[in-house]
Amino acid sequence: MNSIDEKLQPILAEVVRRNAGEPEFHQAVHEVLESLGRVVAKHPHYLDHALIERICEPERQIIFRIPWVDDKGQVQINRGFRVQFNSALGPYKGGMRFHPSVNVGIIKFLGFEQTFKNALTGMPIGGGKGGSDFDPKGRSDAEIMRFCQSLMTELHRHLGEQTDVPAGDIGVGGREIGYMFGQYKRLNNRFEAGVFTGKALAYGGSRARTEATGYGNTYFVQAMLETRGTSFDGKKVVVSGSGNVAIYTIEKVQSYGGKIIACSDSSGYVVDENEIDLELLKDIKNVRRERISEYARRRGQGAHFIAADKGSIWDVPCDVAMPSATQNELSGKDAATLIRNGVIAVGEGANMPSTPEAIKAFQDAGVMFAPGKAANAGGVATSALEMQQNASRDSWTFDQTEARLATIMRGIHDSCYQTAEEYGAPGNYVLGANVAGFVRVAEAMRMLGVI
Ligand code: GLU
Repeated sequence: MNSIDEKLQPILAEVVRRNAGEPEFHQAVHEVLESLGRVVAKHPHYLDHALIERICEPERQIIFRIPWVDDKGQVQINRGFRVQFNSALGPYKGGMRFHPSVNVGIIKFLGFEQTFKNALTGMPIGGGKGGSDFDPKGRSDAEIMRFCQSLMTELHRHLGEQTDVPAGDIGVGGREIGYMFGQYKRLNNRFEAGVFTGKALAYGGSRARTEATGYGNTYFVQAMLETRGTSFDGKKVVVSGSGNVAIYTIEKVQSYGGKIIACSDSSGYVVDENEIDLELLKDIKNVRRERISEYARRRGQGAHFIAADKGSIWDVPCDVAMPSATQNELSGKDAATLIRNGVIAVGEGANMPSTPEAIKAFQDAGVMFAPGKAANAGGVATSALEMQQNASRDSWTFDQTEARLATIMRGIHDSCYQTAEEYGAPGNYVLGANVAGFVRVAEAMRMLGVI
């Protein structure tokens, strides 16, 4: 890892001490503090009033019991979380994640990242994140509904369109958001459309929200490729994951002429030398909710499945890598393989998918690297557009919404690029994103006093 400015080291030490056993949170804070050395050297006033210490401490953390009854009549207990990280720029905003790996440290890292990501969008949204260690895999529709209702029976009192606005993340899509919003509406006796985003169109959702994260990452990487006079056209691309982010990344990259040759889920990955058939993938993942090996089976010749314990998707040679599954899915070793195979650009669709060792390897090798908090901000940016439509009781067309998304992504790209230049680190999008996001949050916090 790069070193942290000595004035900032005590801040990291204190974060590590006070948040013991939360390595992902430490990792996310470490990365941001690494970038802030150049900021405090230029503007030492950011060291005043414990501003950076306050940015690293969530405003509020809620942990609660979620009891629910499964289809066999057995009582199940899960743990629910909502970390309301920072509201200097607007209501807390960020998704809910349902996955067995969820714990308070994971939600804290996600909430911390979200704060800077949301600031980068330029929209009036603070940062938050939530979720549960509930595993949706293999659960019936009725079980999912009862779980979501029980979760919301507690969480509703902490939410509000001006207070905290959740959305989806891993394990939480349109179905779960519908059940949670339905229970919120019932408990509050209020149709408060702006309290949730990622809603279906039928009850106040926004067009292009489902596509937004993947499309946004593609726009970002395309802008990054353009800075070196190239584009997606004719490039071999590997996208990890096969959820919402991955699927719409594949769709947009294909429309730009990129050739997607591999994607994955937690069971393993598929390589398709003839290019991934997106309609087949959508049918398997969105309609039938099957494992990725089904793709290779139904696709036949040219496609094969490799189980997760037999290899890594990053062994597949490509020009552009777009990790869109989960945190720390791309290690230093994977980065070395990708570099050896000639990768020229990486765009993070997931949150913190590359380990610090991987990021350093890419940067040292001169590979263009787009960090998640900038490159995957299209999802939450479109959530903010959904809030805007709800507030004005309006509904925009797909084209109108996508055009706004494209403009926002271009703005994020340019602000990261220019900030990196301004701070003497040209081409370093990690530094650009961290600094540009930090400055926006820090300026607002300074004006609001010590709160
Ligand atoms: N979970 C998404 C993210 O990581 C979306 C959050 C939102 O739309 O509020 O940014």
